Amino acid sequence: MNQKVTVQFPARAHARVAVLQKGLKDNFADVQVSVVDCPDLTKEPFTFPVKGICGKTRIAEVGGVPYLLPLVNKKKVYDLNKIAKEIKLPGAFILGAGAGPFQSLGFNSEFMPVIQTESEHKPPVNGSYFACINPEDGGCLLEKYSEKYHDHGCALLANLFASEGQPGKVIEVKAKRRNGKLNFVTCMRQTLEKHYGDKPVGMGGTFVIQKGKVKTHVMPREFSPCPLNSDEDVNNWLHFYEMKAPLICLPVFVSKDPGFDLRLEHTHCFSHHGEGGHYHHDTTPDIVEYLGYFSPAEFLYRIDQPKETHSFGRD
Ligand SMILES: [Zn+2]
Repeated sequence: MNQKVTVQFPARAHARVAVLQKGLKDNFADVQVSVVDCPDLTKEPFTFPVKGICGKTRIAEVGGVPYLLPLVNKKKVYDLNKIAKEIKLPGAFILGAGAGPFQSLGFNSEFMPVIQTESEHKPPVNGSYFACINPEDGGCLLEKYSEKYHDHGCALLANLFASEGQPGKVIEVKAKRRNGKLNFVTCMRQTLEKHYGDKPVGMGGTFVIQKGKVKTHVMPREFSPCPLNSDEDVNNWLHFYEMKAPLICLPVFVSKDPGFDLRLEHTHCFSHHGEGGHYHHDTTPDIVEYLGYFSPAEFLYRIDQPKETHSFGRD
């Protein structure tokens, strides 16, 4: 990997509870934010390989949209075990959103990393999912990665939240019935940006969309042969879906970019009913219910930042 920078975030978890409560109240009718013990994430609906999202928390952004657009750069392939070592946390539990490992799959896909990486004491456990377009009918096809593949790859771009996977205190966020315009993650991110201003803070974790439906996208299996140069081009290339609850989401977000060409928020979701993809927003504001568990990140790592960049394809 070409290059790495590290930023230390201020750790002020408890202070964020009141901030988030107030900010979410502008966008949802019913909001409850509190500090709780992390529920056992090995249980349904999460079924993660670890119990929690606590201990030595970090956010890592690897690669970026410029490696996918306007045209794909097929040299940009990564390995999550190596990324865990790069962020000085071998054995890390990593979740988040990225592009699937085309180098193994042979096609492009959405990736939902959920992986306990390898350490001296333990072999890796890959609970990741990928979603691709079903060539038969154009629908979404969600599969557990380890059912057919045994590597720990990802590609092009990834927004990752890493921790020791320990139980511990987390921020629980319950939000029901959306009456504002922002999606759940954007609302939290903008709330933190308003409060912390130029000092970036970051969070990651998981939330469940318990009721309602959401707009998602899945990338085509083939990378675009002609350059995609605008949001409009990208939206014509992507496949959009409306997916139904319950969906388990893997959010990673940073309040403000300290100058590393960050994708400030990125959330992928999976389910146990065959649907999964990139989360945009719910389409059923009157009945939607979100239940999330978040951990503040102590560090931000920027790995293999693209030298040439642009601003489209970030939605
Ligand atoms: Zn995505």
